[in-house]
Amino acid sequence: MKTRGGDVKIDGGCHCGEITYEAEINPDNVIICHCTDCQTISGAPYRVNVPVLVERFRLSGAPRTYRKTGDSGDAVATTFCATCGAALYSSKGETPSFVFLRLGGVKQRAQLAPKKQGFCRSAMPWALDIRDVLEIPAPAPSKDA
Ligand SMILES: [Zn+2]
Ligand SMILES: [Zn+2]
Repeated sequence: MKTRGGDVKIDGGCHCGEITYEAEINPDNVIICHCTDCQTISGAPYRVNVPVLVERFRLSGAPRTYRKTGDSGDAVATTFCATCGAALYSSKGETPSFVFLRLGGVKQRAQLAPKKQGFCRSAMPWALDIRDVLEIPAPAPSKDA
């Protein structure tokens, strides 16, 4: 997935497949966000964002946008699939130069380990190290599958 200058090509989309995208990103900029908006909107203890320059982002489909003022004080637009509800990306301000893709929809997500984390004061302390949490075995494959 390498392109020029250490940037990589990625692609992904929502759960139901109505929305897809492609982007070129710098993997060194992948960042965890522990802000309370990310916790509430994602339903998860933290969110992982992949910053993409707008001109290096190609979207297919018609997602919906929810607008609010973020913890940072900026106007934030959060974009998601209206059919399956999957989070897609956010952007700041009226003419954003970046979108912040949600890592969970990116196909190459296993290779995009975050290099930074922000809003650590609102981090869930128990989410910072889950290695000792009891692992339950994966369910056996269904006979119908
Ligand atoms: Zn969808
Ligand atoms: Zn956040």
